[in-house]
Amino acid sequence: MSDVNTPNSSITPVFVPNYQSNLLAGNTHHYGPNGRIQGVDFYRVAMTVIVPAEPSDARTDLEDSLREDHRRPGQPYGLALLESQQFGVMLLTEPSTIEAFRSGTAVLPGGADATIYGGWPSCGYGPWEKIIPAATWYPGGTGILDEFEGVDGAKVTLYEYTVDEGLAWNRRGTPTGKTTAMVGWHCDRCHRPYEMEFDERFENRGPHDRQWAGRNARGHARGQDGKCRPPRGDLEELVSAVASDLRGYRVEVPSQAASCAAEEGCARVRHARAVTARLASAAGQTGR
Ligand SMILES: [Zn+2]
Ligand SMILES: [Zn+2]
Repeated sequence: MSDVNTPNSSITPVFVPNYQSNLLAGNTHHYGPNGRIQGVDFYRVAMTVIVPAEPSDARTDLEDSLREDHRRPGQPYGLALLESQQFGVMLLTEPSTIEAFRSGTAVLPGGADATIYGGWPSCGYGPWEKIIPAATWYPGGTGILDEFEGVDGAKVTLYEYTVDEGLAWNRRGTPTGKTTAMVGWHCDRCHRPYEMEFDERFENRGPHDRQWAGRNARGHARGQDGKCRPPRGDLEELVSAVASDLRGYRVEVPSQAASCAAEEGCARVRHARAVTARLASAAGQTGR
């Protein structure tokens, strides 16, 4: 919906300069018994937003999510959007506080003085979807977000990566020349998820997408999906036997582990790890 009564375009988020250089290495997320995130040790501020008093779809949507006593009819709101590797929160404050923070003359309220809501106004849909710009955790959109201990000593890695848009959902698709940011996970025991498991990777537009991918990764690590079994090569053996029969000589089919190492999860994790090490060392050299 867009008409003169819904000036969402007057809401312009402002990124915190260089916020992506603050990688919060060693940050810890705390999980409840159901695997949901209950707390995070550190956040970084990604962007700030001032929501004007005039009516808009975005303002209505925001107010719908606010507690009654936090709503301020006819007055603007100040928002700061904070994020960790796997979570996003919104600080609700005065527009003047946001302006002072932007100009570097004040810090944002913290602790008991802060009004914090879980999640950003946009979770990838609704009137905020077009307002909040897509952003990755790592500058460039490639790196390791977290690691989880899996079944039987497995390591499950949550990571960001970039890929040609045409190949994001089909490795044998047609390249478009346009790069897209993704978030996914990988288990080094069973080499899941497989290429065809479409609901295990996400377009990476913000902390809510990383949160989804993280939830799936932890579900797998805990053995919740019952899928963590080392590939036994049965399928490859069957395909190979049929192909060999047809052709009259032995045809080898690469195992899941081999194709993973070459071009799927293992390969992407290896690359993400190398990029992360480079960024961490660059941050060290600049005194951070
Ligand atoms: Zn596994
Ligand atoms: Zn693998």
